[in-house]
Amino acid sequence: MENVVIIGTGCAGLTAAIYTARANLNPLVLTGLMPGGLLTTTSIVENFPGFPEGVDGYELMTRMQKQAEKFGARVKFATLESVKLGQSPFQLDIDGDLIETKSLIIASGAGHKRLGLESEDKLEKKGVTYCATCDGALPMFRNKPLVVVGGGDSACEEALYLTRFASEVHLIHRRDSLRASRIMAERTLANAKIKPVWDSVVTEVLDVKLEKVTGVRVKNVKSNAESVLDCAGVFVAIGHVPNTQLFRGIIDMDENGYITPKQGTQTNVTGVFVAGDCSDHVYRQAVTAAGLGCAAAIDAERYLAGLNS
Ligand code: NAP
Repeated sequence: MENVVIIGTGCAGLTAAIYTARANLNPLVLTGLMPGGLLTTTSIVENFPGFPEGVDGYELMTRMQKQAEKFGARVKFATLESVKLGQSPFQLDIDGDLIETKSLIIASGAGHKRLGLESEDKLEKKGVTYCATCDGALPMFRNKPLVVVGGGDSACEEALYLTRFASEVHLIHRRDSLRASRIMAERTLANAKIKPVWDSVVTEVLDVKLEKVTGVRVKNVKSNAESVLDCAGVFVAIGHVPNTQLFRGIIDMDENGYITPKQGTQTNVTGVFVAGDCSDHVYRQAVTAAGLGCAAAIDAERYLAGLNS
């Protein structure tokens, strides 16, 4: 029987792991399909306190895992298949193995939002991607025009990163100003290789018949004019969706699937706590996720102490 199982190894999950491990709770931590979480797909993180020169996202997550393991956390490359939270202890199906636990911390993060186009689905991995740091250096994108869709910090980060490889980067945004933080927006618009395409949406990725990306069909939302923009790759960076499907109908969440805690990090099921991007659609920062992971660990520790008293 486990004291605490933590779902997710992003900033929230690994911080919860550090705290519960230091509280001698011997946590079991499940990576899911993306060990280290979304931060492993970014390049330099410049706003995590303590790193004035910035830190590589992958390195930051590797360090967090090492820190958690140093204090006894057991990090397992495994995926949660289903949960039974209507009884105590809770029952978890982890890759076919039944695990019982007294408490649970959900830190399952968020995944990339999609444009919702059929052509996007058909050309995924054939030029459509959701991660510039993962795919930007591929030969198919070198010295070619590329498209980034979105207007937030992620889109700016992707566009800036891609200027290393692309001949030019078209940043297609549905409004006429960026949502990104001022520093990122200024840096992006000052880069001569980045060409903003304002007030525009992608209506189709071309060319499904050729089984590779040759361009995008773009519609100006103000004039309704349509045009085709040639490119070799489409990088979609339009936000995130929480990874909470498994808990639908069991754990309270809002209409977009973000878990809504009742008090602190405690969910509607006593003994189940939540932290990080799967419950936060407002701040969504590495440091806020880490802070919430800490809070969930403290809440879980107090809950377990109450069970034993
Ligand atoms: P975001 O801030 O939610 O921005 C998403 C962007 O995509 C918005 O510009 C939005 O347009 C656009 N969009 C959403 N749905 C769309 C659709 N269906 N079609 C076309 N465009 C669509 O998401 P994010 O950029 O991933 O950032 C998420 C959080 O992480 C933010 O808090 C951000 O500050 C943080 N972050 C920080 C850094 C950093 O500090 N280095 C890096 C990455 C992310 P509208 O503007 O019209 O809504």
